[in-house]
Amino acid sequence: MAAYEYETHVYDVVVVGAGGSGLRATLGMAEQGLRTACVTKVFPTRSHTVAAQGGIAASLGNMGPDHWQWHMYDTVKGSDWLGDVDAMEYLAREAPKAVYELEHYGVPFSRTEQGKIYQRPFGGHTTEFGEGPPVQRTCAAADRTGHAILHTLYGQSLKQKAEFFIEYFAIDLLMSDDGRCEGVLCWRLDDGTMHVFAAKMVVLATGGYGRAYFSATSAHTCTGDGGGMIARAGLPLQDMEFVQFHPTGIYGSGCLITEGARGEGGYLTNSEGERFMERYAPTYKDLASRDVVSRCMTIEIREGRGVGPNKDHIHLHLNHLPPETLAERLPGISESARIFAGVDVTKEPIPVLPTVHYNMGGIPTNYWGEVLNPTADDPDAIAPGLMAVGEAGCASVHGANRLGSNSLIDLVVFGRAAAIRASEVVEKGTPVPVPKASAIEEALDRFDGLRHAKGGTPTAELRLEMQKTMQEDAAVFRTEETLKQGLDKMTAIAGKLDDLSVTDRSLIWNSDLMETLELTNLMPNALATIASAEARKESRGAHAHEDFPERDDQEWRKHTLAWVEGSDFRLDYRPVHLNPLMGHNEGGIDLKRIAPKARVY
Ligand SMILES: Cc1cc2nc3c(=O)[nH]c(=O)nc-3n(C[C@H](O)[C@H](O)[C@H](O)COP(=O)(O)OP(=O)(O)OC[C@H]3O[C@@H](n4cnc5c(N)ncnc54)[C@H](O)[C@@H]3O)c2cc1C
Repeated sequence: MAAYEYETHVYDVVVVGAGGSGLRATLGMAEQGLRTACVTKVFPTRSHTVAAQGGIAASLGNMGPDHWQWHMYDTVKGSDWLGDVDAMEYLAREAPKAVYELEHYGVPFSRTEQGKIYQRPFGGHTTEFGEGPPVQRTCAAADRTGHAILHTLYGQSLKQKAEFFIEYFAIDLLMSDDGRCEGVLCWRLDDGTMHVFAAKMVVLATGGYGRAYFSATSAHTCTGDGGGMIARAGLPLQDMEFVQFHPTGIYGSGCLITEGARGEGGYLTNSEGERFMERYAPTYKDLASRDVVSRCMTIEIREGRGVGPNKDHIHLHLNHLPPETLAERLPGISESARIFAGVDVTKEPIPVLPTVHYNMGGIPTNYWGEVLNPTADDPDAIAPGLMAVGEAGCASVHGANRLGSNSLIDLVVFGRAAAIRASEVVEKGTPVPVPKASAIEEALDRFDGLRHAKGGTPTAELRLEMQKTMQEDAAVFRTEETLKQGLDKMTAIAGKLDDLSVTDRSLIWNSDLMETLELTNLMPNALATIASAEARKESRGAHAHEDFPERDDQEWRKHTLAWVEGSDFRLDYRPVHLNPLMGHNEGGIDLKRIAPKARVY
C-alpha cells in the first residue's frame, strides 16, 4: 500500500470541473442551500468554455419569429435521429429561461437596436420545422460568448458561497461495494498534498477529450478525465464513435474560426474560386450542419480542388463583409486569423480545414444529469450518487451530430437541471457517508504506481502515437479497413500504458505526472471511440462509414455503450428514448414532425 496522508473534506455535493456546466451546477446547488465544493484542475475562468466564440442557442425570437418546437426539431434532425427525444425537448423548452437567467446574472450580451439580446444565424438552425429560411437563434456576446458566460457564472458562484478548490486534480471516484459514488480523491498540484472529498453527490463536469486527436480546437486540458474515471469505476461510456469535426479550424494551428463567421455572411471556396456548398446543400449552403460541411470540404480536397501549394485546405472568405461588422461582431477571430494565419480578414481569405472540435459521446445520463448504469433489465438504471453534465456527459441531446451553439445551452440547461434534481434527492443536514477505505487505497496505489513508473515509453511519446492513430483512422471519413487497423493499433497502444516511464518523482507542480494521469484518461476515451466506430455498420451524423454509406434506422437507431478496462473493451447497446415529455395536446411536439427521414439541408 502506498503511504500517503490525506485530508478529508465533507460536502453535500462535490462538482468536478469549473467550465460552463460545472459552474452552472455549482451555482445552482449552492443556491438550493446544498453545501457545495467545486474542484478544478485549472483556474475556473481558464476552462475551455472561455474559448467559446459564436454563441448560445435559444428560441428567444428577438430577430424574427422562432419557437422552441422549431429548435427541438432542428436538434432532432441535427442529431440524425440518435438523440433522446425527452432530453432534446427539455433542452429546447428550457433554453429561453436559461438564457434570461444568464442575462439577469449579468452576462454582457450584444444588443439589437431595441436593446434586446442580439442573435445570429448558425448552421442547421431553421424556421418552420426545416421548411423555412435560416433563423437567428444564437445569442451572442460579440465572438466572446463563452468568456462572458464563464466570468459571470464564477462571480455568481462566489456570491452564493460555493467553495472552490483550485488546481486540485481529481484522480479517481470513490465507489462503495454496492455501486454508489461516495466521493473523489484529489491531488493538490501546488503543494503535493492528497485530499478526499466525501459527498452525497459527485458531479462530473470535466469537459471533452479532443486531445485524443492530433489536431483539435480544444484546450490541452481537454483530456476526458471524467470518462477515464467512469471507465475505471466499471461504468460505460456512450456513443463515443461520434466525434465532431468543425469545418473551420485554422490550417496548421487548429485554432477555431467560429461558425458565427459564416452566420454573419462568410462563405467557403475551393481552388477554382467556387462556392462549392451551393452544389451540396442548395437551401442552407454554408450554413448546413457541421458534419455535412466538413464532409463536403474533405471531398473537395480529395478530388483535387483544395487550395494552397499542396491543395490540402479550403478558403473562408470574410473580406466581402463591411469592416465595421467584422470589428463589432467578430473581433476575436479577426485577431486569431492575424496571429495564427498571418491573414488580414478584411482583405484575404482564411485558410481552414475540418478540425476535431466536440465529443457528442460521453457519460450516459438521463435529462436530470443522473449517470446511468444500464443493466439487461433496465437500460435506464442509475448509478447512485453520481451525475455528469456538459461535454463530459451524454444526455443525449446531440446524438450523432451537435448543432453549433447547442453546447453552451446544454451546459447551462443541464447544469441547472442537475441542481434542481440534487435538491430533490440529496438530503440536507444528514451525515455524509465515509468513503470506503479500500477505494481510497486503490486510487492512491494507482497514483503511486504512475509516479514511480519505470518503463520504456515516455508519456509524450505514447500520447503522440495515440493522437496520430486517432487522427488517421477515426477521421471524417471511415472505412472497414481504416477502422479495423485503427482498432488493432489502439489496442496495442493502450497496452503500452503498463510500460510508461515518468522521470519526475516530485509531488509539487509535477507536470510530467499530471500529463501521465491525463493520458490514462485519454486512452479509454480513445479506445471506446474507435471500438464503437468499428462496430457501427452504417453512416449517421459524424460517423461517415464509406462501406455503409446509408443510415440504417432498423438496425442502428440505438446508443452504443462501451466498457473499457486497460486494453480490453466490451460493447453493448441501449434503446433511444423516442417519446417526448409533453404530449401534442399539452403543447408538446407532434410525433409525426420528428419521425426519421432523409437528412438534407
Ligand atoms: C474553441 C471552441 C469554441 C467553441 N464555441 C462554441 C460556441 O460558440 N457555442 C457552443 O455552443 N459551443 C462552443 N464550443 C463547445 C463548448 O464550448 C464546449 O463543449 C463547452 O464549453 C464544454 O464545457 P464544459 O463545462 O463541459 O467543460 P470545460 O469548459 O472544458 O471545463 C472542464 C472543467 O473540468 C475541469 N477538470 C477536468 N478534468 C479535471 C480533473 N481531473 N480534476 C479537476 N478538474 C478537472 C477543468 O479544470 C475545467 O474547469 C466551443 C468549443 C471550442 C473548443
